[in-house]
Amino acid sequence: MAGRIPQSFIDELVNRIDIVEVIDARVPLKKAGREFQACCPFHNEKTPSFTVSPTKQFYHCFGCGAHGTAIGFLMEFDHLEFPEAVEELAKMAGVEVPYEQGQRATPQQREQKTNLYDLMANCDKYYRQQLRQHAKASVAVDYLKGRGLSGEVAARYGLGYAPPGNNLLHALGNQFSQQLVTTGMLIRKDNGETYDRFRERIMFPIRDSRGRVIAFGGRVINPDDDAQGGANAAEGRKPGAAGPKYLNSPETPLFHKGRELYGLYEARQALRQISRLLVVEGYMDVIALAQQDINYAVAALGTACTAEHVQKLFRLTDDVVFCFDGDRAGREAAWRALENALPVVGGTNQVRFMFLPEGEDPDTQVQKIGKEAFEALIQQAQSLSTYFFSRLREGISRHDLEGHRTLIEKARPYLQALNDEAYRSLLVRELASYTHQNEATVQDQLGLVAKTRQARPVSTGLKKEPPSLVRTALRYLLFHPEVAQQVDNPRSLAQIEQPGIGLLVDLLETLQSAPTLNTAALLERWRNTEEGKHLEKLATWQPSLNDPESLQQEFLGAIARLEEQHRSSRTDALLAKANQGQLSAEEKAELKTLLQRRQAVDPNGN
Ligand SMILES: [Zn+2]
Repeated sequence: MAGRIPQSFIDELVNRIDIVEVIDARVPLKKAGREFQACCPFHNEKTPSFTVSPTKQFYHCFGCGAHGTAIGFLMEFDHLEFPEAVEELAKMAGVEVPYEQGQRATPQQREQKTNLYDLMANCDKYYRQQLRQHAKASVAVDYLKGRGLSGEVAARYGLGYAPPGNNLLHALGNQFSQQLVTTGMLIRKDNGETYDRFRERIMFPIRDSRGRVIAFGGRVINPDDDAQGGANAAEGRKPGAAGPKYLNSPETPLFHKGRELYGLYEARQALRQISRLLVVEGYMDVIALAQQDINYAVAALGTACTAEHVQKLFRLTDDVVFCFDGDRAGREAAWRALENALPVVGGTNQVRFMFLPEGEDPDTQVQKIGKEAFEALIQQAQSLSTYFFSRLREGISRHDLEGHRTLIEKARPYLQALNDEAYRSLLVRELASYTHQNEATVQDQLGLVAKTRQARPVSTGLKKEPPSLVRTALRYLLFHPEVAQQVDNPRSLAQIEQPGIGLLVDLLETLQSAPTLNTAALLERWRNTEEGKHLEKLATWQPSLNDPESLQQEFLGAIARLEEQHRSSRTDALLAKANQGQLSAEEKAELKTLLQRRQAVDPNGN
């Protein structure tokens, strides 16, 4: 339910903010005629088909069909819930969101979440300050310098220092102890005492897509452990008093590992257009690459890259390259990444796989060979299909029928996991060539034939009908809401039997009682309803504006014809009743007026 926040507030807010400003802050827009344009943030494209209309306060992508209001945009792009998106817009407009009294505890919960973000921001500030000020921070600074990091890159990624011992409670205040436990910054022992999760570590703030700190990663400071290269796995546990080499925040109300990628916010800040994203294993890899001016690396956080991660990356680019260490752990991680990526690859979206020489990680490798040579390695990354088949064929040495059957059996579950038909047939073709069989035979053996045939939509051969009167009226109303004031007595239309008429009447009445609503505010009134989805689609209509006058005439004409239809069916009904002599005096008067009108409109009685 959209409720809890009064509708009048949403009306006013949506009328007050400018969607162009909201979107431009996240996706830079260019003016194009009356509208604004950009390459769509929700699908991949090289030429802009994403448009933002300042008059309708509505965005629409002709490529993928994404559309909505400013609130809808924030929900999609920043992954916000409805109330959060409203909060965000209210902040931009400098107003408080009023919550209706006597409702659930959600406002408090929301406030609590806001407080958690503030708290994390304060932890972040504290750690960064310690990196500059703490007496023991020089070890950390020396370590970072030793790794070739500049102050500029360290600042861009917000690196900090967690000193030895327990400090957070003292630094932030005892009253926050519970919230610090909730955010995973403190650990509570059985006896109720708490201690800092991160002690004597270099701190890496993990930011969400809006740049808010939601978690931390911490790395032990041990100048020696570079000598033991290859141990740079995200949570490679190295025994010892200092604990694991890398430590992440646990899952918290703010942080969900499977959803966040380290470095994504920073990459988006650094690059206007992201043509490729490189997925590496650890924070130090991301930062070492940034130091060499490779600003498009991200890392999953102590977990394999999930389908949700890959989907998130595909929103920004169609070229995702996974980079793995050449050791056994790296190869295992690569295969997991492939499995997770399969359901979301296809179309123009590709994932590729890059393996570094044994004993190297991106950090050591890029320092050794430099940006250009490293980027050349990225260029040579294997395609998914090459990697897929080379891995599947491992251990199948026999080039006979049995070997082929084994290969097909191994491939089956993966090919079934693919959602993209075209990509699947490509892999089937390759599989056919490896097994020296024709594609149909392989498809048969995979049990894919039926699925492929069923998936094809049945063409009805019906021609597209011209828009109905109701549709014509609705789409113009959404295009130019002010016109509603020119319709007398919309309620009279309600008796017409035509699909959508009720919605048209509701829209007209809403606009007559709230004449200042723009398209977006109007759409917000119908959020979370079936009708709302229909209205949003109609709002994507972009007529040519060469002749605005005739557009308005078309609308008024549609309304007039609807009224006429109503009068005509009413006349017929009354005439039928009159034939049976059952008209009341009132109905007689009505019929008389109707007949006079019919005579005036059409004197020949046609
Ligand atoms: Zn799009």
